[in-house]
This record gives sequence, structure tokens and C-alpha cells, in this order.
Amino acid sequence: MVNNQPKRIKVLVLFGLIFIGACVDRIIDPISFNQPPIADAGFEKLVTLQSSPIQLDGHASHDLDGKPLSFFWELKSKPDESDAYLVEPKSVTPYLSVDLVGTYEVSLVVQNELAVSEVDTVAITVVNNAKNIILLIGDGMGFEQVRAAGMYRHGSDGTLSFESFPFHGRVSTHSASGVPTDSAAAATAMATGRKVNNGVISSAIPGDGSPLMTILERFKAKGAVTGLLTTTTITHATPAAFGAHEFSRKNQFEIGRDYLLESQPDILMGGAQFVDSASALEAGYTVVTSRESLFSLDRGRSQKVWGQFGATNLPYEGDGLGDLPHLSEMVETALDILDNDPDGFFLMVEGGRIDHAGHINDLYKNIFETLEFSRASRVVLDWASTNKDTLVIVTADHETGGLTVKENNGLGVLPDVIWKTTDHTSNDVPVYALGVNADQVNTAIDNTFIYELMLSTAFGN
Ligand SMILES: [Zn+2]
Repeated sequence: MVNNQPKRIKVLVLFGLIFIGACVDRIIDPISFNQPPIADAGFEKLVTLQSSPIQLDGHASHDLDGKPLSFFWELKSKPDESDAYLVEPKSVTPYLSVDLVGTYEVSLVVQNELAVSEVDTVAITVVNNAKNIILLIGDGMGFEQVRAAGMYRHGSDGTLSFESFPFHGRVSTHSASGVPTDSAAAATAMATGRKVNNGVISSAIPGDGSPLMTILERFKAKGAVTGLLTTTTITHATPAAFGAHEFSRKNQFEIGRDYLLESQPDILMGGAQFVDSASALEAGYTVVTSRESLFSLDRGRSQKVWGQFGATNLPYEGDGLGDLPHLSEMVETALDILDNDPDGFFLMVEGGRIDHAGHINDLYKNIFETLEFSRASRVVLDWASTNKDTLVIVTADHETGGLTVKENNGLGVLPDVIWKTTDHTSNDVPVYALGVNADQVNTAIDNTFIYELMLSTAFGN
């Protein structure tokens, strides 16, 4: 008896919970069980004031008998004093014109034959500018590289961290050279908004060769802090395009000098070739050379850090990193330090060796590099969930290898694939976005638009 008592209470509590659960289910969802929503007002949005009017992206589906439903949009609430209004509220994709910072609620109202309204409401939050921009670039990471890594790690595609971002699109990558782009020209397009010839680092070629101001330099000029992280040598083309100006990506000593003397990003992490630790120390950086010394940094205060991890590129993830840190660990540390600055930051993170594994058509190495890039994006995703005044973009500079996945062989088994080349291709690459103005990444864009979006989101022009 005495022993039975707690068990009986547990059973009663369990039934009680099931009963309450069933009631809650009915209250929330009286019409459709496992049916698609009849009115879906789309994703919540965080946008800058100057991006108004804002396109809404909801939709009204058919009723349970398959008949089309009539619908209209309603502006449910807006900040006091606002004269906001909806443009074409009876169209599928109307615009919301806003005039003040604050929160606006829009509803999609559906009217069926029985005159029952089915409403879904979504909040649109309007801010002046985003405080932080984080750009993650998977070098050589096309759509098929992403699919292959998801299949291997989770058994199916669509499963990497950044694939859960609310907005997705595709990016054209051509350079001014008229052949598939290289990392220098593609990164320059994203860093400066300008198409240049392959091999050129943020300089006007074609053109007068003058330096093109980068998004990192614009953040620096307004007093914000900046960082560049990569798994390649830090003077490699992708990070270089954000913090250097050279006619050739091969000028790696000069690129290192540009970092030290000109752009001076607050945090630099990657392979150390071409910049010695004495020069970094002299320029005011704390130098760390291992995972252990990275973790020993005091993350609670602003400081300049140069992570010099190994003599050249970091090893492949698939080969093991020894005492050197993973990209995701660099990201975690960099965010912790950069976010001490009240003026915000720009951070570029490169998964640099996805490309190298593509050039040698090594699927195993390619997948492990992509998975670590996904982990790095997960760290950013988690950080951004509590730092909403941020725009996060995950993309690639170009595709490498002409990869096509033929067959998913399930969890932990490499999929069957075909590589078409050991070089770059002109294929579009994926883009995923989260946070302020992320809704503008929902279609086909050019890589120069990534710069324009970062600029307008952070600076409002
Ligand atoms: Zn390459």
C-alpha cells in the first residue's frame, strides 16, 4: 500500500497531463490536425528602417476540401504616432511601409464559406541599424558539398546548422575575368561590392588600381572592432580581401604588412606563415599559438589578439588538428572578446580548406571541413539568438570540383558522388541569412549584393 501510493499518483498525474495536453491541442488548433496552416503570415522579421517598404512573405493555402480561400492582410498594431500602412493588402505578397523604429504586427486573415476567420499574426521589428555583422564563407562550398556533409553526418540533406536559418537564396559568383572566379575576386566582391579580376585583392582592377574600401575598414572607421578568422594561412586570399589591398593575392608578405600597419583587425586567427610573432607583438597584439593558449585568454575585456596556429594552413579536420584549435573554437573565443565593445563589430569567418579538399576531389576531407564550418556557424547561431541586433550571412565564394551527389548511403557512410573537375566552377553557391534584414536574402543574388546588404544594414545607406 505504502509503496503503491506514489505510483498511483504518478499514473494520475500522467493521465492529467495527457488530458490537459489534448485540451491545449484543441484550443490552439481547432480546425486542422496535421494539416498545413490555412493562414501562414510568414517569418518574424527584424529589419532596418531604411529597408521600408518591407515585403511580407506569408501565404494562404486551400481549405480542407481543396478550394482556394479568400484572404486579406491587416496591420494589427504599430508604434504610437506611426503612419504605417500596407500596400496592396489583398495581394499574396503585400508591402508594409513603416516610418518609425518599433514593433509592428501584421495578420493574414482567411475567410472561408462558413465565414470563419483563420488568422496568423507575425511581428515585424524595425531598428535603425544592425550593430554587428558576421559573414561566414565556406571556400569552395557549393550546394552539393552541403548536401553530402548533411547526408554523412545526419543521414539526410538539409540538416547542417545554417540550413535552419530562416532565409535562403543562391549567389552568382562570376569575376571580372570572364572565367570561374577565384577566392580573391569573389571575396573582394563581398568585401567591397566591386567585381575585379581573379587574383586581385580589393584594388580597382580593371580600373585605376586604387584601393577599394572594405566593409571591415568601414566598421573600423566608425570605431567598431573587427576580426578575421580562417583555417588557411591568415594572408590567404579570402581574409586578405577584407583587410588588405594588393594587385596580387601572391603578395602575402605585403598582405601581412597591410594587416599590421593599415587595417589592423582586432582579432586575426589562422596559419601564421608570412607574419612573425615579433611583428604582431610589436603591433600591440597578444599572440596565441595553440588551442590551450587560445583558451587561456581573458575573454572579459577588449583586446587585440593574433592567433598564429601552425606554420601554414591548419591541418585538415579529417587528419586531426593536434594542439591547434578548431574553427568553431576560434569563433567562440573571438565572439566573446569582440562583443565586449559597445560599438559592435564586423567578423569574417572562413572555412578555407573545403576548397582544398575539392581541388584534390577528396570527399572525406571535404565533408569534415564542411562539418566543422557548420559547427562554427552553430556557435554564431547560438550567440546571435541572444544578440538580435546582428546580421549573420553564411555563403561561399565559389564551388570547387563540380561535385554532384548521386546517392545517399546514410549516416556515417560517404555518399556516392561524381567530381567533374579539380578546379573552380561557375555554379551558383548557396546563401543563408539570419537576423537584421536577413529577409532580403530570399532569392537569386549576386555576390556584390552581399556587400550592399551588409553596408545598408550596418550603416543605413
Ligand atoms: Zn580554390
